[in-house]
Amino acid sequence: MIQDIYHHKMEVVYDGEAVLGENDYIIAFQGRNVYMKKQKDETSGAFLTCEDILPVEYRKEAMEKFRRDAIYLLCLDGRRLFLLPEKYLSSCPQAQQKDINIFREKNEEGRPVSFAMITAWHLYRWYEETKFCGACGVRLRHGQKERTMVCPICGNVIYPRIYPAIIAGIYDDDRLLLTKMSPDARYYALVSGYCEVGETVEDTVRREVMEETGLSVKDIRYYKSQPWASSQSILSGFFARLDGDSHIHIDERELCEARWVKRDKLEDCYSKNGVSLTAEMMEYFQKHPEEFEIKRMDTSEE
Ligand SMILES: [Zn+2]
Repeated sequence: MIQDIYHHKMEVVYDGEAVLGENDYIIAFQGRNVYMKKQKDETSGAFLTCEDILPVEYRKEAMEKFRRDAIYLLCLDGRRLFLLPEKYLSSCPQAQQKDINIFREKNEEGRPVSFAMITAWHLYRWYEETKFCGACGVRLRHGQKERTMVCPICGNVIYPRIYPAIIAGIYDDDRLLLTKMSPDARYYALVSGYCEVGETVEDTVRREVMEETGLSVKDIRYYKSQPWASSQSILSGFFARLDGDSHIHIDERELCEARWVKRDKLEDCYSKNGVSLTAEMMEYFQKHPEEFEIKRMDTSEE
């Protein structure tokens, strides 16, 4: 998955004291586009540094301005990454604008950079949308101890926004429930949805499956989670067994397709780029049938 960067290390804890240096990585965004280092190889991304873009003769003076506007984001393999306003990179010949969806490309070598880039985008979105106090309208300031924006007048503290959501792999014997939100989607998805206030994530699984497909489920078990920055979410993946009638009543406002697919027909249904939890869950169901058999302990309930 995108976050599986193995011996690489990404640290996202805020450091209010961090000051931009010439060697630190820098990044800027414009909507869903990112400014990164221009490269011959289109598939792999790399971060720029101030050293890359500032000629030596102006560097000292420019660095003062850059430091005032830079926001510390995260640290990848010991190198710090700072967010800069778009204007600093948009006219820079060493920078290239790309769609943030480049993080989905199958490129295991580039995965740490992709994961850092898309995480940076999640933070960028939040900073872009968190400039004024929602209670009194005053311009917010950066918190010092944690990653927060703080109102200097009423004391309102705003933390980064993360939407909790679930992905549900619903199975019935050797079949998995697959969905599509759009007929243009290349691959299938699983049932997914956002948590409501006052709901456990298991409740969200039951509710979303019922709303989208009219099916009941049981034996809900946690699989893995995934930070999914492009929708500013944290995804919790669950498998659950069909309970009762397998006839699907699709909610056409949410889905264009929902169907049962047998294990031996799953191969072409999911992406092999190794990025998403959804794809990993489909592959897990396909390759580990023993994990989904009804064990003797289970049958005592039925
Ligand atoms: Zn306020």
